[in-house]
Amino acid sequence: MKQKTRIFEKLGLVLSAAILLGCSNKQESGSESAGRAKVVATIGMIADVATVIGGEHVTVHGLMGPGVDPHLYKATPSDVQALQAADIIFYNGLHLEAKMGELFEKMGQVRTTVAVTKSIPESLLFSPEAFAGHHDPHVWFDVTLWKYAAGEIARTLAEKYPDHAPEFNQNAATYLTQLDTLHAYVLEQIERVPSEQRILITAHDAFNYFGHRYGFEVAGLQGISTQAEAGTKDVQDLVNLIVDREIRAIFVESSVPVKNIKAVQEGVRAKGWNVEVGGELFSDAMGDAGSFEGSYIGMVTHNIDTIVSALLESGHD
Ligand SMILES: [Zn+2]
Repeated sequence: MKQKTRIFEKLGLVLSAAILLGCSNKQESGSESAGRAKVVATIGMIADVATVIGGEHVTVHGLMGPGVDPHLYKATPSDVQALQAADIIFYNGLHLEAKMGELFEKMGQVRTTVAVTKSIPESLLFSPEAFAGHHDPHVWFDVTLWKYAAGEIARTLAEKYPDHAPEFNQNAATYLTQLDTLHAYVLEQIERVPSEQRILITAHDAFNYFGHRYGFEVAGLQGISTQAEAGTKDVQDLVNLIVDREIRAIFVESSVPVKNIKAVQEGVRAKGWNVEVGGELFSDAMGDAGSFEGSYIGMVTHNIDTIVSALLESGHD
């Protein structure tokens, strides 16, 4: 808790951004939103950044709320309406929103539709064999990569609304500085975990960029996309890894059913080892709108605090 307060103070603006997002996720009344650009974003992390950078000139509508899995998400009729009424559509791309790809293609013909990951140099993207020719889409776990997304959002807004460009650029500059602080915070927290304990086991393979940037070994029960179900062999492989390496904490994710990771925990116990569920991580969705975890900076902070405290506690047993 103390850590959370500390990062809060460092990032004074974050809370107001999160509250703003909470408000703007709801449909606003006509007079309030008059004159503002209508922005629609898929995952919460994009909606948050668009809210921070767009400031008072945008109304942001996020399609996927807390606990929603983007890999499996299908647009509802009201989403299609929101997309049709949008001035700008932001999505992650890299096949994250797998079932909405066609829709974005169609929308791209008639309105500004931007994959926020498009300016990340290809050399920085992972191409896991198991993900059938696609890059790993979970780039937001490396804060330095998510800065490209923030840049893309700022650029798109500034090009479309040049009158407000100075404001967008100023908001972006402030936010990028906050992301640098966040990145430094994650590095600082990781230093507290002895290197042999830096192993992160989660419900699906969302944490490869995290592992690469912050020096963690990562393993997920399900693959890069939750579209592929975990099989018995996947469970058994992970059970063996945990028992062999004497790993003491594994993690559930807010957007993936808990039953899979519980099956691993039971399998481990059957082999005479005990592994704790170290807490819930926000992987592909953020926390509740208006809460600290309902912002990108808040979710990253929550994740690293949860991981570090679970691994440290388990190390003292
Ligand atoms: Zn995912």
